[in-house]
Amino acid sequence: MNTLHLTNTTEDINSAAAILRDGGLVAMPTETVYGLAADALNGEAVRRIFEAKGRPMDNPLIVHVADFSDIERLHLVAEIPDKAVKLAKAFWPGPLTVIMKKGGVIPDEVSAGLDTVAIRIPSHPTAQALIKTSALALAAPSANTSGKPSPTTAQHVIDDMDGRIEAVLDGGACSVGVESTVITLVADTPRILRPGIITREEIEAVIGAVEVDKAVLHQLESNEKASSPGMKYKHYAPRARVILLRGEDEKYIRFVNRKYARDKSVAAMCYDEDKPQINAPCITIGSADNEKAQAQALFDALRAVDEIGGVTTVYAHCPSVTGVGMALYNRLIRAAAFEVIDLPTKRIIGLTGQTGAGKSEVAKLLKDRGLPIVSADAAARQAVEDSEVKAMLCAAFGDVLKADGSLDRRRVAEIAFSAPGRTAVLNAITHPRIARIMFEEAERLDGDTVVFDASQLYESGEDAYCDRVIGVLADPGLRLARITERDGITREEAMRRMSAQFSEEFFIANCDDILYNNGSAEELQTSVKELYERLVRG
Ligand code: AMP
Ligand code: MG
Repeated sequence: MNTLHLTNTTEDINSAAAILRDGGLVAMPTETVYGLAADALNGEAVRRIFEAKGRPMDNPLIVHVADFSDIERLHLVAEIPDKAVKLAKAFWPGPLTVIMKKGGVIPDEVSAGLDTVAIRIPSHPTAQALIKTSALALAAPSANTSGKPSPTTAQHVIDDMDGRIEAVLDGGACSVGVESTVITLVADTPRILRPGIITREEIEAVIGAVEVDKAVLHQLESNEKASSPGMKYKHYAPRARVILLRGEDEKYIRFVNRKYARDKSVAAMCYDEDKPQINAPCITIGSADNEKAQAQALFDALRAVDEIGGVTTVYAHCPSVTGVGMALYNRLIRAAAFEVIDLPTKRIIGLTGQTGAGKSEVAKLLKDRGLPIVSADAAARQAVEDSEVKAMLCAAFGDVLKADGSLDRRRVAEIAFSAPGRTAVLNAITHPRIARIMFEEAERLDGDTVVFDASQLYESGEDAYCDRVIGVLADPGLRLARITERDGITREEAMRRMSAQFSEEFFIANCDDILYNNGSAEELQTSVKELYERLVRG
């Protein structure tokens, strides 16, 4: 099919209206996002919307009309509740969708078999003109391929829908940028099913108490029924993996920069103010304190992720969940398939280094000075007793449990260290859990600075949580002597362990502070004291 690219001149709107009257599909601009419109009372035409988008048939559509009187005139709903009249006066035309009991004329395709229908009166002049000229009610979901970010420009629509629909009407960039707030009045208390820029607080000021559906902010369990079918799907996602980082600006910036230092395939989705400090490729979504601007930019930003070459993971800064923030969070958390990382609230000092260099002595000295230590070894022992981790280890390495159900750690070590590929599998399973345990312990401990003692700080990615990283190094000869003696192992085994680690150059390039431990115990004490004073006392 050849998709017509139309503008918003009267002539083009007339052509688009004619297409709609013939049962065709037209993408139209609205103030929220571009909608993919068809005659709402023509089940055949509506079915084509689902086909063009690849939208699951159980996800109902919103019916758009130009004027409040159209709802009654076209018998779209069984009855109009008082609260709908109040909402209409306050917010229509505008980015609010109201769900009511449906009228008999609504085809099952529109309501996806439910006995309710979603109605909206858009304010965008082109949408208004198209509805009026066609003299139809228009069923219109967002004009994107199902699962992708909603389109906020005609180009986004063309990227997804060219060749699949009769026409795209270009009306410029959408001003709101996120889809309408959806509220159901078919409930004891009105309930928001999808947040938008009309906020809960604004709605409550008009009709009193309003609930927020659980699916707005949380992932539904597989046995829970979605009141808004659209909210159960992964959605708005670019090809790259999106991860939300919840925490302060400074922690966010540091986390992204540390990830990027190790992995050039990561990118950031951040506020304008953060950009100068971020080393990774960066997509900005507006100023930190202008949530409306962020809403307007959000979907374009999510689409832009895939336009930067070679990005596999994008770290987005998690918004607050109040006001317009709720709409942003609701979209981002779905783009992230609910993957959120909490950043520490404390100052974290990472402590790592080469085997035999004396990291443990340094940890002891820092502890003596009053810094709480979180040990990665202890966290690792705890992690492998986690039932989920045990199940994953069994799936990867066969039955590695003892008769009493605890992990046979010797057996796991035997298998995991038999080949580098297997070690990587072990790490992929355990490291996220270990990091989680360390993070939780850090939050529990007293004091505002905590040391992460981790020989594999970089391998595990725990470095990204750290404000500073100390690397402890020593000459190879010394280390060899120390570990053969300490661990009672052969020279060969000691050399093997030493060469399995990162090089001295790596630590020098990546750590913020380097401690050389080539001298006496007193010398180490002195250098730790100096470092402590610099880091903690400022
Ligand atoms: P879209 O048109 O792509 O913005 O999606 C419309 C949203 O409204 C989806 O999340 C639907 O699940 C929701 N929706 C539409 N009609 C109903 C309805 N009758 N009951 C509950 N949710 C609805
Ligand atoms: Mg949609």
